[in-house]
Amino acid sequence: MPRNWALWKQRRHVTAYCLLSEVVAVVLTVRRLGDEPVDGRATALWAALVVLAVAQAELGRQVERVRRRVAGSAHINMTSVWLFAGVLLLPAELTAALTVVLYLHLAVRSWYRLHRVSPFRTVSNATILVLTCYASKAVLTAFGMADLRAAMETPWLGSIAVALALVVHFTVNALLVLPARNDPGRTFVDLFGGWADNALELATLCLGAFNALALTVLPGLTVLVLPPMLILHRTVLVKQLETAATRDDKTGLLNSAGWHAIAEHALAQAERRQSTLGLLMIDLDHFKRVNDTYGHLAGDAVLKAVASAIQGEVRDQNDAVGRFGGEEFVVLLPEISAVDLAAVAERIRGSVREIALKVDSDEEVREIADLSASLGTAMYPAAGTGVQRLLDAADMALYHAKRTGRDRIVHVADLK
Ligand code: GH3
Ligand code: MG
Ligand code: MG
Repeated sequence: MPRNWALWKQRRHVTAYCLLSEVVAVVLTVRRLGDEPVDGRATALWAALVVLAVAQAELGRQVERVRRRVAGSAHINMTSVWLFAGVLLLPAELTAALTVVLYLHLAVRSWYRLHRVSPFRTVSNATILVLTCYASKAVLTAFGMADLRAAMETPWLGSIAVALALVVHFTVNALLVLPARNDPGRTFVDLFGGWADNALELATLCLGAFNALALTVLPGLTVLVLPPMLILHRTVLVKQLETAATRDDKTGLLNSAGWHAIAEHALAQAERRQSTLGLLMIDLDHFKRVNDTYGHLAGDAVLKAVASAIQGEVRDQNDAVGRFGGEEFVVLLPEISAVDLAAVAERIRGSVREIALKVDSDEEVREIADLSASLGTAMYPAAGTGVQRLLDAADMALYHAKRTGRDRIVHVADLK
């Protein structure tokens, strides 16, 4: 029933944006109908792209199944390899038709089991891709080139036009998806994804350009695009397996296994270099109250905020922040003095105090503030020479911090 569509349950600007972009895509498509001739050659190229795309999706299903089990995230989208080739080869309306067919195939074969993906998302994603294709196509048109064959008549200028179209395709797509998201986040990575996601998208587009070249010059060789596509897909799986094995889902921090692996390595290095190493153990004060007052979801949001507060106070490259579960965090800080360790601990305590988080509960927005944390610190080698010894020592200091009033820092060195 249209009345129950998930589309209406989104934030108002998301609903409006989805509808508006759909209208724009339809209007642009209708206006461009017949601008370029859809001859037999164009139809054959279109059919070839459909066949290749379906073949790739089908061959990649096994990888995709494993990947989804570990990562749980939505479908990895590598359709750009076919769509960008479409931009370079086909009249606009056939590019739109290609998008629709590929998304229908994905919806029927892969997405129907993912109950989290509402149909409106699929439609919105496809719409955004249609608009993206029109934008990159406009670059070719601006160069006076109808398609790749026209670009090949002036090879250097043609190369520049295709490269520029690729950059525009990438950029416009990244920008168009932003307003469609309910909770875009604030950091650059939140907004545009990590470098790995973007590298994958760029690599896919590059293969798309070669795909179009092959289809134009030696069509038989276009199947050569399939093996690198499948390998690329597999590398995403490997990367996500690695992340799943070493990262904590909730906060993105290291999990116990990931943190311990790094800690063992850092400790061995400190031993070799006869340098120092600091350990912080951080536990939120009266966190149970947050859960009890605002609910578990708000508690999770607090954990995320604390994770990024901690991460904001330590060195990105050297220091390893972990969460082993619960509301307890550990930080490993190689090559640090006791004085600096105490300063970092103080900064973290301060930034936890400064957290102010808006949460939606029962239709009203409430602010969670007045958070605090207790910290225990331990130094290698003074407090112990093994990872577990250091953890125990920091834990003991933390316990003292809790017992002596909370919202404070206790150094193992001061206990003896
Ligand atoms: P203290 O100051 O003594 O540390 O008090 P506390 O309430 O923080 O400590 P306690 O260890 O008694 O309670 C920890 C609470 O953290 C209990 C548990 O419900 C909550 N918790 C643990 N893991 C998670 C999580 O992943 N999400 C949420 N929302 N809460 C969690
Ligand atoms: Mg606690
Ligand atoms: Mg605890």
